[in-house]
Amino acid sequence: MSPMKVAKDKSIFVCTACGYDSAKWLGKCPGCGGWNTLEEEREAAASLRGGSPREPSRDLGEAAIENGERLVTGLKEFDGLLGGGIVRGSFVLIGGEPGIGKSTLMLQVAARLAGRAERVLYVSAEESFGQMRMRAKRVGAGADSLAVLCATDVTAILEEARKIKAGVVIVDSIQIIYHPQIPSASGSVNQVRECAGPRSAIPPASSSQSGGRGTPAAS
Ligand SMILES: [Zn+2]
Repeated sequence: MSPMKVAKDKSIFVCTACGYDSAKWLGKCPGCGGWNTLEEEREAAASLRGGSPREPSRDLGEAAIENGERLVTGLKEFDGLLGGGIVRGSFVLIGGEPGIGKSTLMLQVAARLAGRAERVLYVSAEESFGQMRMRAKRVGAGADSLAVLCATDVTAILEEARKIKAGVVIVDSIQIIYHPQIPSASGSVNQVRECAGPRSAIPPASSSQSGGRGTPAAS
């Protein structure tokens, strides 16, 4: 048996609590000490991985320009924290205690970017459209051109983001989002890794090479 064959057939067990992975199943997770937390990565995830669309080769110069581009919100502290704005094509995770104001901050960020001619998709997984509208009014975020989608299925979110050619996707919150082909519960390491992983990045629109790049931010 060649070494490549061995690697290909190997299944991986991942801890649902801390993400520790092991080649064999273990009753106790060496990462976090939890019992019976290791789950086998099912074939669905593995075959999905192999089936991702192939990206064409690109000039290095183009990538450098893309990576350098930052979306400035005008919210000084927020932009400063990110080193001068959101890097296009990047993924930013906003964390913090419940009730600290993450949703309000993200709505302000979304409204600012939408006001700067950026197509922004705000995915609300926990609040209804009506609640979102009230929040926007309350914080005085003039967000008339902000697209709001109330959804939790990552495939539906990506489909909508492509449809409206969103440059920025804000997901509130990533813990509620799930991929229908991943067997674990939403909020688990497997789900978050799938929904926030590179394969959930919005590929460049087929017509142009730089349009439609997603910048999902999750709170
Ligand atoms: Zn663990």
